[in-house]
Amino acid sequence: MMPKRFDMVIRGGVCVLPWGQAEADIGVLDGRIAAIGARDADTADEVVEAAGLHVLPGLIDPHVHLRDPGDARVESILTGTRAAVLGGIATVFDMPNTSPAVTDAATLAWKQGFVPANAHCDFGIYVGATRANTGELAWLERRHGVCGVKLFAGSSTGDLMIEDDEGIEAVMRHGVRRIAFHAEDEYRLQARRPMFRTGDPYARHMDWRDEECAFLGTRRIVALAHRTGRPAHIVHVSTAEELDFLAGHRDIATAEMLVNHLTQIGPDCYAELGGYAVMNPPIRDRRHYEAAWAAVRDGRVDTIGSDHAPHSRAAKERPWPDTAAGLTGVQTSVPVMLDHVNAGRLSLGRMVDLMAAGPARVYGAVAKGRIAVGFDADFSLVDLRRTRTIENDWIATPAGWTPFAGMRVTGWPAATIVRGRVVMRDDEVLGAPAGRLVTFH
Ligand SMILES: [Zn+2]
Repeated sequence: MMPKRFDMVIRGGVCVLPWGQAEADIGVLDGRIAAIGARDADTADEVVEAAGLHVLPGLIDPHVHLRDPGDARVESILTGTRAAVLGGIATVFDMPNTSPAVTDAATLAWKQGFVPANAHCDFGIYVGATRANTGELAWLERRHGVCGVKLFAGSSTGDLMIEDDEGIEAVMRHGVRRIAFHAEDEYRLQARRPMFRTGDPYARHMDWRDEECAFLGTRRIVALAHRTGRPAHIVHVSTAEELDFLAGHRDIATAEMLVNHLTQIGPDCYAELGGYAVMNPPIRDRRHYEAAWAAVRDGRVDTIGSDHAPHSRAAKERPWPDTAAGLTGVQTSVPVMLDHVNAGRLSLGRMVDLMAAGPARVYGAVAKGRIAVGFDADFSLVDLRRTRTIENDWIATPAGWTPFAGMRVTGWPAATIVRGRVVMRDDEVLGAPAGRLVTFH
């Protein structure tokens, strides 16, 4: 056979393929995977040395809030995707609750045009559901780069929340693609609010937004999904009850789990981190933490996201419950999950299933999420043996803090490759932003 010429060969790594792990050199041509098992005689313009590393498909964070347009002192598409590639993430799906929100054709068009020159990684865009845009959602969800519609049934503000069954059902009847739901029940949240006082301990967050707030919301969404036949993706599932319930509705619903719910445990995390542990739905007690891991192990969870949602230190330090809810996470999810792999909590193959193949499958991302010939040449190269402490000064997000500061982890991202371009190697971001919108089925 004639030697082949590639643009890039990734040499000497252990590849996590959909059908198992294998030592193989990968040939890349025109931004796509051209060969698994390139030979010594083949030539390449660029050789990426991967000896001692594991070569994963480009990992996808399907749940980030990059706040653009918004306050660039906290986060932006430029800085948030910089954080992503430093953390070993090759693609992000970005939430619509920006200022203005992505809920109409004009704002979507702005974002579609803005991303390529400002994103270091590839990019999917959520469109937010509102009462005003319900009739346009079937059109909006088909636009280029749109990963899906996001509906906030609770815990949002202004136009971006639809809390009643009638409004949610109307959204479900406009369009066909899977909708991502923040399912917490707004009525129960509001009813319980007077039980608490400003300045109460941060751990009260678990009591205000209790298990039933989450479970009730998820039951309502799933019932409406069955009634309308519209598939639902329940983001940040946080309770044992929801996980058991969702197992009986795999025909219509998929589930996302957050890194934080697999890593931190209440009430200890509130004592340790104060407002920096506050997110929605809350980090809960050990019973839910154990249930989350059981669901990761038995396949009930489809995707893992970070719910990266930066706030300023001032906003995080406000007395509860006025503390801004949300944590940084896009840069830390890979090292934290690799540490879980090293601790034996899940296999590297399952991590890839949850962080690459899963998001691609749930959202219908074309040619992403697996190492296979013809797919985009996106890779996350990781060093499973490297031990390092996560520090605030490593965080590229301008807000400048991580709830995992001081955590010593084993397993670290070594390089991020997006469509055949090395965009991060050894903690250095390389090249100008050249992200591209993902194509979705
Ligand atoms: Zn979120």
